[in-house]
Amino acid sequence: MRNKVSSIVLLALLGCSHEDAGPQTPPPPPPPPSAPTVPVPSADPMPSAAPSAVPVAPPAALTAPPGKLNVLLLTIDSLRADMPWAGYGRDIAPNLTAFAKKAVTYTRAYSISSYTAMSVAGLLAGRYPGEIERSGYFFSSYPNSVLFFPELLKKDGVRTMSAQAHFYFEKAGFNQGFDVYEIVKGITANNKTDENITSPQHLELAQKMLSDKVSTQGRFFAWFHFMDPHDEYMPHAGIGPYGKSARDKYDAEVTFTDQHVGKLLAFVEQQPWGKDTAIIVSSDHGEAFGEHKMRRHGFEIYEMLVRVPLLIKAPGAEPKVIDLARSAIDLAPTILELSGAPPEPSFIGKSLVPEVYGKAPEARDVILDLPRTSDNDKRRALIHGTHKIIAHGDDEAFEVFDLAADPGETKVIRKDDPALVEDMKQRFKEMVKGLKDICPKNTQKLKGKKPRRRC
Ligand SMILES: [Zn+2]
Repeated sequence: MRNKVSSIVLLALLGCSHEDAGPQTPPPPPPPPSAPTVPVPSADPMPSAAPSAVPVAPPAALTAPPGKLNVLLLTIDSLRADMPWAGYGRDIAPNLTAFAKKAVTYTRAYSISSYTAMSVAGLLAGRYPGEIERSGYFFSSYPNSVLFFPELLKKDGVRTMSAQAHFYFEKAGFNQGFDVYEIVKGITANNKTDENITSPQHLELAQKMLSDKVSTQGRFFAWFHFMDPHDEYMPHAGIGPYGKSARDKYDAEVTFTDQHVGKLLAFVEQQPWGKDTAIIVSSDHGEAFGEHKMRRHGFEIYEMLVRVPLLIKAPGAEPKVIDLARSAIDLAPTILELSGAPPEPSFIGKSLVPEVYGKAPEARDVILDLPRTSDNDKRRALIHGTHKIIAHGDDEAFEVFDLAADPGETKVIRKDDPALVEDMKQRFKEMVKGLKDICPKNTQKLKGKKPRRRC
């Protein structure tokens, strides 16, 4: 989400029609509980019932999922990559830090774009937002014709459920493919910021959904997108205060959210299906605290806006750290594979399941995509190894950075390494050839606003 949106956007958002926004027909009951799943084999040589003084060996790590799994996707809005498990010095998220120790932790994970409407759509569609049919407003809405991966899960017999905590999620079209999709009650709609505190209600709703046996007797996919770290940074009794800066206040919001996510993780662990459930934790974008003279998020795709946490805890997979660049574009194919659903050819990313289960990860490029909307210009970037090229507007200007030497992107490489700049430009051009950008539905209206621009 973001702030400072013209009132026309809200009007457009609230006024947009969406065929699928109304109450949904109750879905048929899910298939019998054949799904989760094959038990995790144990390396314990002794029958577990037999008393023994021999130390019990830990279960052997698996090289593939033990069967078709449930998947729980927890995304936390505006959660930066520099969290305590990644070296941040303040212990602001003890529950997620403990979770990270049991998970596959990615240290160079990227969101697809730098604000919710684009990042989340890309994550759900397994494609870049510029390629997805959409309205051209900042708070884009997505028609039924867009394929979101929960639709494929549902088709494969997976029960799908989601609870959301921002008014945008009501009309965005993200409910496609969900058997159960609810917005927490009592939130106010403010298109400039988010003053609601929603983690307690969100936790309650998530636990209610996950306690419904109709939803959890077979395979299921559940997605909860926690909102509290999004600005405004609201104070919470009993937390901090860590200080007066925006980052201090944001940190308190992260702690508050961590407390609730921690309760949800503990709840999941106690459930009979908990051992058959893969859990993914990530974010839709980062947050700026003065870097590049920016606050909050959106508008650009510098590192602090697009680097996010990515933690995957899957049954039988050993905890480890993967340092290669990865993108949320990989999550749709990853979730399909974990669930045991067939792969979808139109999805661009690659399933992370093989490397989560021990296959040596291979370096690959990451693409960032921020399409032009009613309120922002276009940005795209390619990350190749530790180099990054950002294209501004319709590829009118480029910035090349060495992320290893200059992680804050403070020094644009130009004449000091022309060969590198040329190489990155060529790679970028090749990358663009592979994208299938389309114009938003209301391009004509937007042209009036920015007449010299393409869509
Ligand atoms: Zn967001």
